Amino acid sequence: MMQSASLYIKDHIRTVPDWPQAGIQFRDITPLLQDPTVFRTLIDVFLARYADAKLDSVAGLDARGFILGSVIAYELNVGFIPIRKKGKLPFTTVSEEYELEYGSATVELHTDACKPGDRVLLIDDLIATGGTMMAGKKLLERLGATIIEAAVIVDLPELGGSRLIESTGLPLFKVCDFA
Ligand code: AMP
Repeated sequence: MMQSASLYIKDHIRTVPDWPQAGIQFRDITPLLQDPTVFRTLIDVFLARYADAKLDSVAGLDARGFILGSVIAYELNVGFIPIRKKGKLPFTTVSEEYELEYGSATVELHTDACKPGDRVLLIDDLIATGGTMMAGKKLLERLGATIIEAAVIVDLPELGGSRLIESTGLPLFKVCDFA
């Protein structure tokens, strides 16, 4: 990835202080999505990285991971898998509970979302404590998937999530970070 692309993308992420609660610096990607040139630059970074990855599918984390993951899956001509917050998926599911930077949550995955050995890219907009990404990783692994990489736009390294993910042996790709 070109350093200039990373800076250009980072420059279009808005920081909203004290949202959704005091002390949280919320990194809002909506300005980036709103600008078609920046959005395309971002998606092109992921497409260049995964064009030859021989993926079977892209799994996106609810909800901003859906925006990125579905576009990438479409362009790479592979399937898209939604990992959803509890109670949203209608078929049989596996589920994982985890801690958030603020609060706790459960994510779910349809049991037929992928097959053992499928090569899957796991994607979200941001990694903070890594709880969400770890839960998604566990769900995919329970179905026997091979996760080739975890990917985010933003890493918040001080919250330790990227280190946590990498400590499991799963590589993490980030476009930019806010240290
Ligand atoms: P975590 O599980 O702590 O790594 O949190 C990551 C998830 O929560 C992602 O789905 C993010 O969209 C969201 N999130 C957590 N912290 C922030 C933040 N400071 N700014 C924007 N989104 C956040």
